[in-house]
Amino acid sequence: MPAFEDSDFGVPAAQATQHRDSQATLSIPSDANGTHNAIEVPATRSSISDAQQYMHNLSLSPSMKERRGSRNSFGVSLPIPRSKRQSRLSSVHYPDGKPARPGMPPIQPSRDILAAQVQDLAHETVRAAKDMAFVFDIDGVLVHGDRLIPEGKRVLEILNGDNQLGIKIPHIFLTNGSGKPEEPRVQQLSGILKNPISTDQFIQSHTPMRALSEYYKTVLVVGGEGYKCREVAEQYGFQDIVVPNDIVAWDPTIAPYRVFTEEERATSRPRDFSKTNIEAIMVFSDSRDYATDMQIIMDLLRSEDGRLGTVAKDPVSQRIPIYFSQGDMLCPTEHPIPRMSQGTFRIGLEAMYKAITGADLERVVYGKPELATYKYADEVIASWMEQIHNDEKLPKNIYMIGDNPASDIVGGNMYGWNTCLVRTGVFQGGDNDEENPASFGVFKNVLEAVTTAMKKELGQDFKFEFDEKINPVLHHDVSAVE
Ligand SMILES: [Mg+2]
Repeated sequence: MPAFEDSDFGVPAAQATQHRDSQATLSIPSDANGTHNAIEVPATRSSISDAQQYMHNLSLSPSMKERRGSRNSFGVSLPIPRSKRQSRLSSVHYPDGKPARPGMPPIQPSRDILAAQVQDLAHETVRAAKDMAFVFDIDGVLVHGDRLIPEGKRVLEILNGDNQLGIKIPHIFLTNGSGKPEEPRVQQLSGILKNPISTDQFIQSHTPMRALSEYYKTVLVVGGEGYKCREVAEQYGFQDIVVPNDIVAWDPTIAPYRVFTEEERATSRPRDFSKTNIEAIMVFSDSRDYATDMQIIMDLLRSEDGRLGTVAKDPVSQRIPIYFSQGDMLCPTEHPIPRMSQGTFRIGLEAMYKAITGADLERVVYGKPELATYKYADEVIASWMEQIHNDEKLPKNIYMIGDNPASDIVGGNMYGWNTCLVRTGVFQGGDNDEENPASFGVFKNVLEAVTTAMKKELGQDFKFEFDEKINPVLHHDVSAVE
């Protein structure tokens, strides 16, 4: 079961214990009754800026080491939604548009009946099949961007019922991807993989941040294309969403080098931000304009309670919190050298903040490999089990399949899952990753990983095809009996 240790995060156990209960300066607000429909998961990643380790040439004040210790915010928690909240927006997408039961491939009713008969006669294997689940990273495992990895399609067919028992094996998708609502993302993925996928099986980096809408009213949402992340935040229930364009439209001098188009002006929602208190900053996706976004974020972090045009005397006590949806430094794209991602954007901000104020920036980072993201995955798996097997429980044997040792595998290992590393993405190493070895092994592709795991749980002779001609009672091919 969850096995995150302080030492996994480079924190000596004694130090972490000592400061675990100390008051974090970055606290999550609670309402008068102190009740939220969210689960607050303790942060496993330190909330203190990472910039220091990258700032070799800057001398630190002698007291810095102690300050880091005393202000260690291991008490900070990351709220995640209860799974039922997620289900309210649920929808399933079928690659050919045919409706069916959630998660079921569009198959003939006679096959459902036949599969039920086959399953009736194989209690033990059925029990084992309902006690396992797969968690898939997406990019580098099932697809490369918009391009299908053919084994990915086959794997989903097997898990959606094309197997000896005609049974569905629970599986969910867990990605650090971001930048548009769950619904269109799932629709696109379902089209590429030619298999039905529900939003109830899908977690992208900012999905658990839905829970934050209960804590903050007015928020700045940063990143993504156009106004897509505003749309995401609206769907998550945030009441008052500000994006950088709204602020530039109000006062273009705030971003002196920004070329603001007429269309951007027309589509933004300016107001008098000198009279608005922005309560929190949410970086949902990659910034499309580092200069403008960093300037506005810095202005807000240094302001009095999130009011633009002010500069707080004490940089820490009136600072509003900042959240990032994930922490990946680099992201593989069509460009031959990986491109910078939210992690590098964050380090840049942390360094600027440190250089200007002298204080460390505290922040919260969601996404793999953060514990909160894995806890949320448990919620989603259990609720998906209810949808497909009418049994809301967490299967015992969970397999994480990913291509990135530094996020998929390290997080899965710490959470006590079986981890499978595939060679179709980021990982190009030898027998296993040296720093974060996959516990269940390294596989050529996702199909090899899934069939190996299923054989381990369901028997070495388990077949990855449903035999339409099987006679369940005689337990062999009808045509062979004649
Ligand atoms: Mg990946």
